[in-house]
Amino acid sequence: MGKIKVGILGSTGSVGQRYVNMLRDHPWFEVVALSASESSVGKKYREAAKWVLDSEIPEGMAEMRIVKAIPSEMKGSGAEIVFSALPSEVARRTELDMAEAGLFVVADTSAHRMDPDVPLLIPEVNFEHLAAIEEQRKRRSGFIVTGPNCTTIGLAITLKPIQIEFGIRRVLVSTMQALSGAGFFGVPSMAILDNLIPFIKNEEEKVASELLKILGSYKGGRFENAGIKVGASCHRVCVLDGHTEAVFLETEKHASAEEIAKCMADFSSEPQRLRLPSAPERPIIVRNEPDRPQPRLDRLSGTPERAKGMATVVGRIRKESALENGIKYVLLSHNTIRGAAGNAILAAECLKGKGII
Ligand code: NAP
Repeated sequence: MGKIKVGILGSTGSVGQRYVNMLRDHPWFEVVALSASESSVGKKYREAAKWVLDSEIPEGMAEMRIVKAIPSEMKGSGAEIVFSALPSEVARRTELDMAEAGLFVVADTSAHRMDPDVPLLIPEVNFEHLAAIEEQRKRRSGFIVTGPNCTTIGLAITLKPIQIEFGIRRVLVSTMQALSGAGFFGVPSMAILDNLIPFIKNEEEKVASELLKILGSYKGGRFENAGIKVGASCHRVCVLDGHTEAVFLETEKHASAEEIAKCMADFSSEPQRLRLPSAPERPIIVRNEPDRPQPRLDRLSGTPERAKGMATVVGRIRKESALENGIKYVLLSHNTIRGAAGNAILAAECLKGKGII
């Protein structure tokens, strides 16, 4: 059987480059269209992209010409799936146009994350939310599946096994977020070197609202939020890739630190059962050293090779006596791999693995 043809919107940006890199030699998908803004249209990919990854641009894609972000270009190239890494303000209309033209859109953008018929998908956490696609198909021939904000994703993955085994009442998180999370032109070097910025616009609100949708249920054609209290404080730090988060939570049932570590380390889900190509063998890696996880050492965790950067690394799991049934830990998640392109590619694999496309 031939590979499924895919296009990438926003292919030259911080997340777009991750797509290009992760889709090289993909066993199921073949990139046939690369798109970016008007100023890049017509240029070869290697001229349009300010390539920042430490591998070469995949050979087949370096010479491809950038096309416009419109459905006719995607369909004309033969693409069935369109990965979207557009700025959110552009994404809202463009992603809808693509879905209405019959394309399957898998988006990293925030534009449609909270729509009542759009799954906000982390394949290991809420694959059953894919049922919402049926609702969309009553209105359009294609559909949109989104992935969460890069800060929410590692948090949701680590909370899921705790939610299943012990229940969760309250979660507080303080983040230390990497520069690549703000996009290629996001934070000027003069603002961040020797510094930390204790504010990321709209981030704290997104963490709370997205987490509740993801950890909630999909029943009778609608999403129902999880009944968990969530508070976040988000900060930009001088790290290239990899978001670190200090998490504090109250469980419903009492749990020891060892029980929490075990349920995280044992966690596996639908992508692992389906043996999807980008699924990490262990979605959560628990480290016992007192000084881990660290971005430089742990951000590319995950096996097999295709799942490098897809595992969430957790350390310093311990009791928190200031909370009732309190637990605290530190997590690290690669923001442009697990937090964006990698999660979306895994979502597309999940769509194929479950026979939706
Ligand atoms: P970025 O580095 O600024 O890249 C933006 C991309 O969109 C570039 O390819 C740019 O093309 C293209 N673009 C800009 N305006 C356009 C237009 N009017 N029409 C078509 N294409 C246009 O941004 P990013 O960090 O990759 O983020 C992309 C999206 O992913 C955002 O919605 C962001 O919120 C989301 N996201 C990012 C992360 C992360 O860790 N960075 C994680 C999760 C989600 P040119 O090169 O031609 O300008």
